[in-house]
Amino acid sequence: MSAAKLYCHLFCGILFSINPLFSQNRADAKKIVDTLTSPSMHGRGYVAGGDKIAAAYISEQFKGLKLISLNQSSSYFQKFSFPVNTFPGEMEMTFVWSNKKREIGQAGKNFLVSCESPSIKGKFLVIRLDSSVVYNIEKLRLFKNGLSKKSFILVDTGGVRTKEELTYLTNFIKYPRGIKGILIPANSVTITDACLKLSTWDVSMKQSSIPTIMIDYRFRNIDQIDINIESKFLKNHISQNVIACVTGKNNPDSFIVFTAHYDHLGHMGKSVYFPGANDNASGVAMLLSLAKYYALPEHKPNCTVVFMAFGGEEVGLLGSMYYASHPFFEMNKIKFLINMDILGTGDEGITVVNATLFEKEFKLLQEINSENNYLSVIKPRGKAAISDHYYFTEAKVPSFYIYTLGGIKAYHDICDRKETLSLVKFEEIFNLLRNFTAKIDNQ
Ligand SMILES: [Zn+2]
Repeated sequence: MSAAKLYCHLFCGILFSINPLFSQNRADAKKIVDTLTSPSMHGRGYVAGGDKIAAAYISEQFKGLKLISLNQSSSYFQKFSFPVNTFPGEMEMTFVWSNKKREIGQAGKNFLVSCESPSIKGKFLVIRLDSSVVYNIEKLRLFKNGLSKKSFILVDTGGVRTKEELTYLTNFIKYPRGIKGILIPANSVTITDACLKLSTWDVSMKQSSIPTIMIDYRFRNIDQIDINIESKFLKNHISQNVIACVTGKNNPDSFIVFTAHYDHLGHMGKSVYFPGANDNASGVAMLLSLAKYYALPEHKPNCTVVFMAFGGEEVGLLGSMYYASHPFFEMNKIKFLINMDILGTGDEGITVVNATLFEKEFKLLQEINSENNYLSVIKPRGKAAISDHYYFTEAKVPSFYIYTLGGIKAYHDICDRKETLSLVKFEEIFNLLRNFTAKIDNQ
């Protein structure tokens, strides 16, 4: 083999395997994920205006691409509001044993305050409620006496043997009288070498009367806690969807819609925030990449292509629900909608929700995939009310919801970080969606 041939053998393959048009996509996507997960976005939730800052960033991106507003005004925002419980301040917990041993807990790592918890401050005794209490009259009496002392109950399900015991314990939790809060020990799960997860977190539209706190299982024998948790209930938080389009050249009154929620869980205390890299900075990165593609004059579509970045998804699909009841154009003009939520891996392919409802389109997606070898598998799934496509499906809009499979298992935890999100199949998924959209656009 000549040197020139060897050189070509080594390098030509690499050069030709890179599609010059899309080689920047993954790098661009990474930049978007980095920005959306940075501390300045505050987990895109309800502390320090995180969701507003993220919405402003997306709006700036749309503006930079010269996208068209579908609103009557020139703004891309569609405002809506909801109540939400937040944790903007103190988040401290010290575990104390009877031998005076103390350990300061780390929020998010070895204790997790449930999202509807109210504020609480002070030193409290911890009374254990476990299976040994259930059938022991003396222990039960002591237990009930303990309750009047304004204690926390630690519900240790580790020793529960029967269903009846579990029912008894859970009934006790349901009707606590005079107690200050509930502690539930749980085993941590390793997500990455650097990140342990206690449990998944969420956002609540309510505030409960007492806090429930999940604690690491190794604290199950504590006798006291020193606690300072500050929560703030926002009765009417104003959020917004960010919506823009590229007007179609031949069929402007026919629409193809891409959606992705930009909000995440925000803060649990002033220093811990949930970055939400996979959920759903990755989907927003795809939304903006598609917007960038269709904004180029040479890629102008026949139909109008709309980009919707929804707020309030983690609170209960609120942004998409609001849009579906206040649409900017008739819903029956949507030819197809693709919702993207959790698009940051793909090592094991993707799942398509609504595949069984729209078989023809699902077949088309699979054909494009096998022709180009983009992904190892595209799994079909039925209808599911798990992301922002849902209210569109209910309004009879043909739609798919796509999420990636494989890779990091972080989800609704502090481990869902940019550093460990691979975006390994980002370009392949981009090409798959672009080719699929081209077929729908030309139908
Ligand atoms: Zn999500």
